[in-house]
Amino acid sequence: MQPDALIDPFGRGITSLRISITGQCNLNCFYCHNEGQSGHESQMSAGHIANIISTAAKLGVNKVKFSGGEPLMRHDFEDILAAIPEFRNVSATTNGVLLPKRAATLKSAGLDRVNVSLDTLKPQTYASICRCSENVHSMVLDGVRSAVDAGLTPVKLNMVMLKGINEDELDDMISFTRGFDGDVILQLIEPMDFGNYGGSVDMDIIEKDLASRASDVVERKMHRRKKYMVDGAEVEVVRPIDNSRFCANCSRLRVTADGKLKPCLLVDDNLVDVGRADIQELESLFYKAVSLREPFYKG
Ligand code: SAM
Repeated sequence: MQPDALIDPFGRGITSLRISITGQCNLNCFYCHNEGQSGHESQMSAGHIANIISTAAKLGVNKVKFSGGEPLMRHDFEDILAAIPEFRNVSATTNGVLLPKRAATLKSAGLDRVNVSLDTLKPQTYASICRCSENVHSMVLDGVRSAVDAGLTPVKLNMVMLKGINEDELDDMISFTRGFDGDVILQLIEPMDFGNYGGSVDMDIIEKDLASRASDVVERKMHRRKKYMVDGAEVEVVRPIDNSRFCANCSRLRVTADGKLKPCLLVDDNLVDVGRADIQELESLFYKAVSLREPFYKG
């Protein structure tokens, strides 16, 4: 018999899992939300991660995104990918630093595509955002090219819009994106305030500007995100703040690096521990976490 689908008390079906596979990161971006974790977690074995993902698949999840920390810090990321069942969409969000060495093996192991965090095309600005040396920037650009060459496409560039830091770079980022002939999509993200950011640029102004230049505008079902086609470049806008439509259309459940099901990035008091659960217990713990889900911003 088919198990019941995962549907929360607000009628939102869960079809997507975002799983942190390590709390460790090789960068230290000043605005980072670290997926709502402390960053000092222990990490789960590849086998346990595979059990969690297999259970999610059984319950109707068809999309999985790996995150961190930095997921490529896990040397066994390829083993994790090889151990999970077939999904419609297997992706990772990465800072791209280690992609030049790993893009091809990750693709062979089952990764479909990546998001690469790239807030700026200027090495000096990059170094000040990510608190690293300037030469890291060229490694990330190599990472983007390696991901495209390996077919981890479309590569989405995650650009967090930061007041006074990268707001003048939108056109340059659009041109950079266009240079990949459709293999790269630019994703503009409104920063969430975890007590460590410098304020976001006005996303209304950005969207109006994109709309005035776009040949086509499409609304995605996922979080009701808007996509603009600007001179052949695809630009998607992610606006989670004060956005009840974003929450009403959220189909995502999170897993922290130390094995807690996390119903919402912005809430910490409803985590469900699956770190030591055996495969038989996992199913009921998924239903429990989903029963605790509620929209952070209500309409
Ligand atoms: N290290 C990986 C990376 O760089 O993609 C995975 C973890 S990182 C937390 C995942 C994504 O969250 C990145 O694209 C990053 O830009 C975004 N992010 C981090 N802090 C954020 C914030 N305060 N508001 C919005 N997005 C944020």
